[in-house]
Amino acid sequence: MHTQLFIDGAWADAADGATLTVFNPATAAPLARVAAGGAADMARAVAAAKRAFRDFRHTDGRRRATWLRGFAAGLERRREELLALQMQNSGKPRTEAEIDLGDAIASFNYYAGLAEQLDARQNAPVALPAADFSAVTRLEPAGVVALIVPWNFPLVTSAWKLAPALAAGCCVVLKPSEFTPLVELAYGAIAAEIGLPAGVLNIVPGGPEAGAALTTDPAVAKVSFTGSNAVGARVMQAAAANCTAVGLELGGKSPIVVFDDVDLDAATRWIMDGIFWNAGQMCSATSRLLVQRTIAAPLLERLAAATRALAVGDPADAATRMGPLSTAAQYRKVLDTFARAAAEGLACVAGGHALPAAGSGWFVAPTIYAEVPTTSPLWREEIFGPVLCTRGFDTEAEALALANDSDFGLAATVLSADPARAQRVAEALEAGHVWINSSQVVFVETSWGGPKRSGIGRELGPWGLSAYLEVKSITRCRQGSAA
Ligand code: NAD
Repeated sequence: MHTQLFIDGAWADAADGATLTVFNPATAAPLARVAAGGAADMARAVAAAKRAFRDFRHTDGRRRATWLRGFAAGLERRREELLALQMQNSGKPRTEAEIDLGDAIASFNYYAGLAEQLDARQNAPVALPAADFSAVTRLEPAGVVALIVPWNFPLVTSAWKLAPALAAGCCVVLKPSEFTPLVELAYGAIAAEIGLPAGVLNIVPGGPEAGAALTTDPAVAKVSFTGSNAVGARVMQAAAANCTAVGLELGGKSPIVVFDDVDLDAATRWIMDGIFWNAGQMCSATSRLLVQRTIAAPLLERLAAATRALAVGDPADAATRMGPLSTAAQYRKVLDTFARAAAEGLACVAGGHALPAAGSGWFVAPTIYAEVPTTSPLWREEIFGPVLCTRGFDTEAEALALANDSDFGLAATVLSADPARAQRVAEALEAGHVWINSSQVVFVETSWGGPKRSGIGRELGPWGLSAYLEVKSITRCRQGSAA
């Protein structure tokens, strides 16, 4: 387990010796002390990345692909260590930790392929309407990029940024969340192992000040940020001073629309995965259930029974289906949500309280509130915990109006046995990613990100690579050289 900063290919303490404590959310006990980077460390990391970029920008995609596959293999080699760290530092049950690791590995392998294809896309001819001119386009790395990530999927969120950034030929300063930096520090160990040139990847854990220092450094070409809307707005404001490009992956309040032709058991499983996976700490959590009134009573009955029976407890226990919340602050926020729901007099059909019986850590009961008014903050605001709000609807048009009545647009699910209706609804939903008859299944080949206040830009797929590339056109006058 690494606990130091990784800058310019070497492990180091913070310049001022600062450290931060990370916790085990299942016990609320300290797990490790990690070096906490500050502005001076960030400046050193950016300078190292800038130096490394001079050569790295000229490496060809085929060479970068071998490093990317090296990251995938390095993650695989550390399987047990990374599963243990995710269980201990994030509170993820083992199955979820395994899926996160698999997603990170898939990202590096996928972008290795795209890095190789990039070579053949260079100097691509452009058809022009003028015979005297010819033109080609090149796709060049953006430069030094700052990657700032949250704590809910540390391995995956970083991989979704790091893999395409390296594939493009960018050099990176990665700032993990102050709550879960341990798994990401493994990327530094892998970089050293696979011979990635010093300075191409720098990892500096730290708090908000460390992140803020990155967003104002004039040598940073782009900030790619995943996190809350409040901080996203601050990042955009800070980046504006140098007109630095930003990519933002922010919050969500995603709907799951259930029509009355579904299989009730299958629907119950998808609804539960959509809100209780990762203890609901998902930007894409389908936290607003819209159910056709004809099946509302039997569906809610099954859902409430299955929710009360959900095994909450020690992430290392094979029987556990939901772990604790990952941070003390998030625990307090969810408890505050329960208090607000009680004050509003909402109908609680499951949970609604802390769960001290599950352990000494930050455990809450998976929770469902029925017929939540659309004006309630619980219906409109991201809770980022295992709290589902439901409402009934009669018609498809009503379901769509309710689903789209949100500031956010990250994701949505539609459950229906009618393929034509499911497709029609998917097309009408204002969301960046729509699942039909499933939830939270993300392939690296598809896109990630959404409209409205869910962010700016897209990750994953070819769009994820484009986010780290600059387009250059070279236009040549054929006659000019002969003159
Ligand atoms: P957060 O916004 O508090 O922190 C995110 C990161 O920003 C952390 O590394 C933090 O240290 C850093 N930071 C804090 N202040 C900063 C500043 N002024 N300048 C630069 N960096 C700063 O978010 P969080 O609580 O860690 O994560 C939860 C949020 O992330 C939720 O809103 C969730 O929806 C969102 N999220 C979105 C996606 C997505 O893909 N859209 C994915 C995961 C999480």
